[in-house]
Amino acid sequence: MPLVSMRQLLDEAAKGGYGVGAFNVNNMEQIQAIVGAAIETNSPAIIQASRGARSYAEDRYLYHLILAANELHPEVMIAMHQDHGNSFETCKSAIELGFTSVMMDGSLKTDGKTPNTFEENVEITRRTVEYAHDRGVTVEGEIGVLGGVEDGHGAGGTGLEHLTDPDQAVEFAERTGVDALAIAIGTSHGAYKFSKKPDGSVLKMDLLIAIHKQLPHTHLVMHGSSSVPKELQDIVNKYGGHLKETWGVPVEEIQLGIKNGVRKINVDTDSRLAITGAIRKVFAETPDKFDPRDYLKPAREAMQKLVAERMREFGQAGHGADYKPLSIEAMKEGYASGALDTRPSLATK
Ligand SMILES: [Zn+2]
Repeated sequence: MPLVSMRQLLDEAAKGGYGVGAFNVNNMEQIQAIVGAAIETNSPAIIQASRGARSYAEDRYLYHLILAANELHPEVMIAMHQDHGNSFETCKSAIELGFTSVMMDGSLKTDGKTPNTFEENVEITRRTVEYAHDRGVTVEGEIGVLGGVEDGHGAGGTGLEHLTDPDQAVEFAERTGVDALAIAIGTSHGAYKFSKKPDGSVLKMDLLIAIHKQLPHTHLVMHGSSSVPKELQDIVNKYGGHLKETWGVPVEEIQLGIKNGVRKINVDTDSRLAITGAIRKVFAETPDKFDPRDYLKPAREAMQKLVAERMREFGQAGHGADYKPLSIEAMKEGYASGALDTRPSLATK
């Protein structure tokens, strides 16, 4: 099957009451790890690339590597998603390249750092939705601003400075028609999210639940949702790394989110930690090795193990082939007819 729409994956997840991990990639090994995990657990897969990844790997390498995965494993449902598009043009270029889903992060200005006004966010996101839906492509927006910085993108801070306001989220969904909405509930990008195991004072799951109650038909997205497990930090540090002690988002909190409308969970840091730990181990234990395959193979295996674990924990395991894929053309028709309209005033009828 060709690449599928992310919207369909999330609609099916909503029906089945599970979440779908969206894992970031920069290279072949990471793509293979995700697809390997999807096969191992019979899961649908969202493969996402940031602007940084597109520039590092060069667009067409990345695109063709994902197509290769699709060609080799046609049984796996793969949605290809642009993570944190900073402008209409970035999203447009992703769609022209063949991405089946884009995130228009209008919460920040095009510099990827300065918070936008609500009106500016609505305008840029609405414009992207119009362009994307005409082509059958899914759009994720963001309301509120996440903490931290990753791949040069982010406003910094702890993530508590610009939490999502539930009423604004409803207005945003109504005025933009986004398929999925990333919300700010205290999470941050990068490895250093929390200075201790997070409680309700820093990770606002109550806010997430309130947003879902007001906006039950919009798929919610948790960004900055690596769990940063101590075991992975320990492996990196045991073999010569130097990570400061840190806490991520506990899997049980993500699972609570999934019970309350979260359908997409972004994970990048955990994959990076798994890969780095595996490579450091080879370097430390066998310093005579110099063939990249000697450390990239264990790195790929370590990431696959992590991704498969998350796929099981998010509940997407076993749902890889329990529905028929819709073509992007069918999605285009669905948007045009209004059947896929998510605006609260229409969707709740
Ligand atoms: Zn993000």
